[in-house]
Amino acid sequence: MIKALVLEQQDGKTQASVQNISSSQLPAEDVTVDIKWSSINYKDALAITGKGKIIRQFPMVPGIDFAGIVSASADPRFHVGQNVLLTGWGVGETHWGGLAEQAHVNGDWLVPLPQGLEARNAMIIGTAGLTAMLCVMALEEGGVTPESGEVLVTGASGGVGSTAVALLHQLGYQVAAVSGRQQNAEYLLSLGAKYVIERNSFSDAAKPLEKQSWAGVVDVVGGDLLAKVIAQTNYGGTVAACGLAGGYQLPTTVMPFILRNVRLQGVDSVMIPTERRVAAWQRLTELLPERFYQLATSEITLEQAPQIAADLLNGKVTGRVLVNLR
Ligand code: NDP
Repeated sequence: MIKALVLEQQDGKTQASVQNISSSQLPAEDVTVDIKWSSINYKDALAITGKGKIIRQFPMVPGIDFAGIVSASADPRFHVGQNVLLTGWGVGETHWGGLAEQAHVNGDWLVPLPQGLEARNAMIIGTAGLTAMLCVMALEEGGVTPESGEVLVTGASGGVGSTAVALLHQLGYQVAAVSGRQQNAEYLLSLGAKYVIERNSFSDAAKPLEKQSWAGVVDVVGGDLLAKVIAQTNYGGTVAACGLAGGYQLPTTVMPFILRNVRLQGVDSVMIPTERRVAAWQRLTELLPERFYQLATSEITLEQAPQIAADLLNGKVTGRVLVNLR
């Protein structure tokens, strides 16, 4: 028997409960992983609370990422005892996921744990951190260098934002962090932000073009805030957009694109090819300092996951939430 957070639907409402289930109930796949760590990402919070239409088939075990040890494998690429991690590919959405003591998964979805990265730290990074790295890579590919000017990170005290601040700082960029929570200013400065800007100061509707201020932007918020920062991006700058914490609409104009050569680069972490995934994990392993893992983390049990999911959507969570499944 294994312990799992199970989502069921009653009268159109999502119910989450920790249950003991038989591992024979897990979907049949080639590799069995004994999960040691998972995490609570924004998408997990939407799934667990039912506030977003993430899960369409019930019952479902949520958890879009995990790190653990292979305990059985019919896939020659993975052997028993091997440390692995998984993010994305619809796991925790359409396939039973990481908020359980065990998962059965397709070997194509697994990444060997990079040398030098502990399983616990891999899940402090998790999907959020991988996405932050992909956003930073998008800025680099757009030609944004530390010499180009300041880089803005929105939703900075969340999982993606915190990791993006830390990564950009490590790479020598001057980082401005946008946050709606002034009480997190100290935290953001300690991660490497040069200064923190209140989210409120972006609340006026965006003009088609505003004063050029940012060589690059990592945006997790979307909506009006994304429209505003696009209008403030320097000539030739790049905006990496990965999230919708503030809304999925984008009320912008073509002006920043056609007059300032601004590049808007979408970033997805779910379906990115394995080669880019492995490269991103390697860079995360090399770049994040030990201090990051202490600063940016809280640790919970499986039983606490539903409450933390609600807190995360209410803007009460800072940094990353690790789920201990050992
Ligand atoms: P978190 O909840 O940890 O962080 C989101 C942050 O956004 C909050 O901490 C808050 O930061 C800010 N925020 C929250 N609500 C609002 C609002 N209404 N308006 C403006 N800012 C707000 O989530 P994650 O970091 O895990 O994810 C962030 C976003 O990125 C989500 O939309 C998620 O779906 C998306 N994402 C996308 C991925 C992809 O593959 N494209 C992968 C992972 C995440 P503060 O208080 O500092 O302002």
